[in-house]
Amino acid sequence: MSILRRKMIVLLTIPPRKVWPGVHSVAQALMIRALTILSFFGVVAASSSAIVPSAMAQPFVEVETGTYPLILSAPHGGYLAPDSLADRTCTACVTVRDSRTQEWARALADAIETRTGKRPWVVINLLDRVKLDANRDVGEAADGDPHAAAAWATYHAALDEASEAVTSEFGGGLLLDLHGHGHSQPRFELGYLLSASRLRQSDAELNQFASLSSIRALHHRSGESFSTLVRGSESFGQLLQLVGVASTPSQADPAPLSGQAFFSGGYITARHGSRDGGTVDAIQLEAHRPGARDSQENVVALAENVADATLAYMQRWYADATWSERIPSSDGQSACLSQRGDELVLQGDCASGQVTLYDMLGRRAILLEMNPGQRTTLPVMARGVYIAQYLPHNSARSGRVSTITVLL
Ligand SMILES: [Zn+2]
Repeated sequence: MSILRRKMIVLLTIPPRKVWPGVHSVAQALMIRALTILSFFGVVAASSSAIVPSAMAQPFVEVETGTYPLILSAPHGGYLAPDSLADRTCTACVTVRDSRTQEWARALADAIETRTGKRPWVVINLLDRVKLDANRDVGEAADGDPHAAAAWATYHAALDEASEAVTSEFGGGLLLDLHGHGHSQPRFELGYLLSASRLRQSDAELNQFASLSSIRALHHRSGESFSTLVRGSESFGQLLQLVGVASTPSQADPAPLSGQAFFSGGYITARHGSRDGGTVDAIQLEAHRPGARDSQENVVALAENVADATLAYMQRWYADATWSERIPSSDGQSACLSQRGDELVLQGDCASGQVTLYDMLGRRAILLEMNPGQRTTLPVMARGVYIAQYLPHNSARSGRVSTITVLL
């Protein structure tokens, strides 16, 4: 009887496969992109009297509509520098390009689509930073040039539209703002609107600052301590570490050391994240250059790794948005199950039970029986991200499960 019951529990927790819109043909995609740009132009024209929209702004912002609750923004990787726009000459204005970040955004979108069949939203500023800085308020962004100001308005209208679409279709989502830094430490700097000195505080102190961060909605929704979300074992930084991308803050590298340069987030994370409301969170990703952005080949490889970490993060923390039925969340027993290289390990003081691996579409991939202390080599599976769910046999309720993220 108990075996039957356990089987039923497993079956009941399998999320049904969701049917997603098909991949568009190139012609359809181009038409959608054109319509999207036109619609944003309309939004800008209707909503702003201070900023005069210009047809010239349209070629300067690349917008791609998505089918997944993820928004990619690349404000500092542009190359276009037409003479018709004035150079930004404001004192203290930064004009350095974050090299290969628009290429990174497209490669990351491609890698996510390859793995899931779904595509994130993509918004790219094509203008050189000497003409427009889309990660500043409009005054500093355009330095008074009306065409640059119109492109700035288009950029942020596109992010607003993406956020509204993601919220209405999925209930919420995540925006990744992609940048590149030239600091001496070759690691990602993750910006949650938390300064380096704040990150150097204890977990207990850090836990006080959730409402000041760009993942405020995630904190509210998840019920986890804030420090767990920022630098726990399933934080974005730690998932990046797992795929070989050094990152701070993370479990392995909880904060920049005193004296180390660090970018904590900017205008886009503040405006389009959840600090001031809404259910779309934002994280600023500042990628180092050596081995990451120093060639087109490396930026594509970087995108593959970041896609794995991003999907693991989305599955762990945005399951409501990405799956039609949520796999039950951890009840504190996740310490029972862990991954060591290509092995799954069940701790010796945990009950025997069933372990189920789900793939990225919520399909059950593997079902294993495991005993206390057992190490099981994972079978040969497609490279990707899986959720492992542990159901102890001594549990009578389907809620007594735990999940971990397995990266292969
Ligand atoms: Zn930047």
